[in-house]
Amino acid sequence: MSVSLSRRRLLRGQLDSRPHLDPPWSGSDFNDCCSRCDACIKACPEQVLRRGDGGFPQMDFSQNGCSLCQACVQACPEPVFDLSRQAFDWRAQINTACLVNQGIHCQSCDDACEPRAIRFRPRLGQPPSPELDTTACTGCGACLASCPADAISLETPHG
Ligand code: SF4
Ligand code: SF4
Ligand code: SF4
Repeated sequence: MSVSLSRRRLLRGQLDSRPHLDPPWSGSDFNDCCSRCDACIKACPEQVLRRGDGGFPQMDFSQNGCSLCQACVQACPEPVFDLSRQAFDWRAQINTACLVNQGIHCQSCDDACEPRAIRFRPRLGQPPSPELDTTACTGCGACLASCPADAISLETPHG
């Protein structure tokens, strides 16, 4: 699966060309296992699951990130979820639209990132610049909604 997703694309409703964003801990057999019962969508406290193509639940990071709370896993009556997998394949990526490149102070993504995967490097005479530790990033998507410049996307390593 290849994912390259920014929040702006979601907000513009550009969903037809959107790659599949399957729920956390689901595998390549997701469409075969899921009965489209909506149990996970109803259980998700962050409201980051919604009905996608064909009625299958899909992640929607346009307003919020996944807290990895596992409520979807507990609610699901089918063998969809496997907690021995990593939750998501994709990782966050920060691009040149980041406001610090225009000399504007911003650390919104730092505040949003619970695993502290985004660190700010001090720079002489310029605002600190965000650096992403892809080994610490869980792909939770919380930083996407927090970024005022739409400078963060989710990318698969081989994407
Ligand atoms: S882990 Fe929790 S926040 Fe993430 S999709 Fe499942 S129910 Fe929603
Ligand atoms: S996607 Fe990664 S960088 Fe963004 S908030 Fe989640 S863990 Fe942090
Ligand atoms: S929230 Fe967006 S604009 Fe602000 S520092 Fe992070 S990547 Fe840059």
